Amino acid sequence: MRVDVISIFPDYLAALDLSLVGKARAAGIIDLRVHDLRTWTSDRHRTVDDTPFGGGAGMVMRPDVWGRAIDAVTGRDTGTGHDAEVPVHLVVPTPSGATFTQRTAEALAGEEHLVVACGRYEGIDARVAEHYRAAGVRVSELSIGDYVLNGGEVAALVVVEAVARLLPGVVGNPESLVEESHGAAGLLEYPVYTKPPAWEGLEVPDVLLSGHHARIHRWRRDEALRRTVARRPDMVGALDPATLDAHDLAVLAEEGWHPHGGRLERSDGC
Ligand code: SAM
Repeated sequence: MRVDVISIFPDYLAALDLSLVGKARAAGIIDLRVHDLRTWTSDRHRTVDDTPFGGGAGMVMRPDVWGRAIDAVTGRDTGTGHDAEVPVHLVVPTPSGATFTQRTAEALAGEEHLVVACGRYEGIDARVAEHYRAAGVRVSELSIGDYVLNGGEVAALVVVEAVARLLPGVVGNPESLVEESHGAAGLLEYPVYTKPPAWEGLEVPDVLLSGHHARIHRWRRDEALRRTVARRPDMVGALDPATLDAHDLAVLAEEGWHPHGGRLERSDGC
């Protein structure tokens, strides 16, 4: 996969040289290139922003600078670049975007070329997304959560890391991706423990020391269900009861959730 990240603070993305993403870059699994947006400015001051039409606070990033940058990294400026053959997916982080989830990460992990456009100030002129969509480019305006950051770089780190770890060869043991929170089961992960078996008066549950794989599997599943009930009832409401076994349903019933009309509902009606 190729990923181009464009930012006015390219040094912000230095963290992508570390850890598993850094190793994936070194191994050639991900061809990650970070660009300084100011490369594509055309004035002495290397200006990337201007005042908003209609007035108001703050500055808006200019579409012409962004257009030159995106055309250059996708080869559209010469018509001979990488994207003559490979479709690009433009990711625009913004708090007004659709929420970035594990499902979004999975979808993006299937792409061959991502371009991440990191906004600053009041964001990027809306015509940039509109223009590339009209040109047939897939454009995803994505929010990493309901809060406002100063710039898109942190969101780019989030998106690139979440996507990169789904690429074959990035996470050493692919099994570790299977039971994770937000996976196919639609549950949070069960609590995890390591040595020592007793610490600060707290003991690791006996079952995990039993070596009995079936009982461990069942305990973990029960804990995942209970934890999801306690922390993310919205996720319980999204479960399909048909995918749950009788034991799952019994655990959920203890927690006050019951199947009703093809969904799970809390018995107190909340
Ligand atoms: N005026 C914008 C609004 O209210 O929607 C906020 C702009 S924010 C100060 C500047 C930049 O930070 C955005 O263009 C975007 O790149 C990034 N950003 C801020 N919060 C974000 C979030 N929750 N998710 C993704 N990107 C975010």
